Amino acid sequence: MIDASMYPMGLPLRCRCGHMRGLASHVSPSAGFRFVCYCMDCQAFARFLERTDVLDPAGGTDIFHIPPARLKLTTGTDALRCMGLSRTVLRWYSDCCRSPIANTGPRFPVVGVIHSFMDHEADNRSRDEAIGPPLCRIYQRSAVGPLPANAPGPPSLGIFAHRASMVLGWWVRGLSRPTPFFDDRTEAPRATPRVLTPASAH
Ligand SMILES: [Zn+2]
Ligand SMILES: [Zn+2]
Repeated sequence: MIDASMYPMGLPLRCRCGHMRGLASHVSPSAGFRFVCYCMDCQAFARFLERTDVLDPAGGTDIFHIPPARLKLTTGTDALRCMGLSRTVLRWYSDCCRSPIANTGPRFPVVGVIHSFMDHEADNRSRDEAIGPPLCRIYQRSAVGPLPANAPGPPSLGIFAHRASMVLGWWVRGLSRPTPFFDDRTEAPRATPRVLTPASAH
């Protein structure tokens, strides 16, 4: 067990069954980028895991971008798996209870932590208190229903610029690694990606 009080600004991470746990460090609303993604691939990922409960009523996934070096997995890494629906994004999950964990891209020093891996109960703060409200929504045209009344707005130029400067700052400060998802030396994924074609994801 992690004692979160030992880690100022640490957010405990936990899959649904509790087998896999970790910690995101230096977490605050200004230290990451929260958004809601309505894209088809995020929805297909939830369907693949039979975990559409993690989607909002319009099919949105609540994601918080942080630098890779600030995410640690502490237990249950034997259950770490990944799959891909495109060449660019790997989608990580726990095999024990098929919880979505995070998304990683090939080039940018970013991990998209999926809300279902955040343990707000252990944290004693609401998600909004811990990481702030979502700053924008993306791929709204793939939404499968009316957006929730509290859905964030589409991204503005200012939001894009804010995110770009944040990611550049992480890169400059060397926060791209280490990462629990890729080998430090070979940069190979720590689980063999299972690549699904769009048809097999349904
Ligand atoms: Zn998406
Ligand atoms: Zn689990």
